[in-house]
Amino acid sequence: MVECLFCRIVKKEIPAQILYEDETVLAFRDVHPQAPVHLLVIPKKHVARVMDVGAEDLPLVGELHRVIQFLAKTENVQDGGFRIVVNNGPNAGQAVEHLHYHLLGGRKLGWPPG
Ligand code: AMP
Repeated sequence: MVECLFCRIVKKEIPAQILYEDETVLAFRDVHPQAPVHLLVIPKKHVARVMDVGAEDLPLVGELHRVIQFLAKTENVQDGGFRIVVNNGPNAGQAVEHLHYHLLGGRKLGWPPG
């Protein structure tokens, strides 16, 4: 079985521009940025989708939000504003089946999304 792409980034088998790492969370730049700031914030644990987040993972979701706050500051988008996006499943266009928060900022973002 081919291992999940983001699990391979966690294991450093695939290179990524890592901006933050601790025991449970990893953040790196999206390889196809859609905004001047486009980061991906992921749990190191393999959780495929939002719908797979279990009760035991709820502290981890809090950690992801803590890291998003940290990165919004270090990327200097905390005041101008930014968006976090979590695509979940085919209709949302989720391409990688490993839970990830897109952190987008650095320009005016359109609404509604496509
Ligand atoms: P999604 O469509 O929500 O599943 O988003 C997956 C994201 O992963 C896309 O924005 C891709 O550009 C990004 N991506 C795919 N492969 C890599 C990679 N090797 N390193 C960084 N980002 C990646």
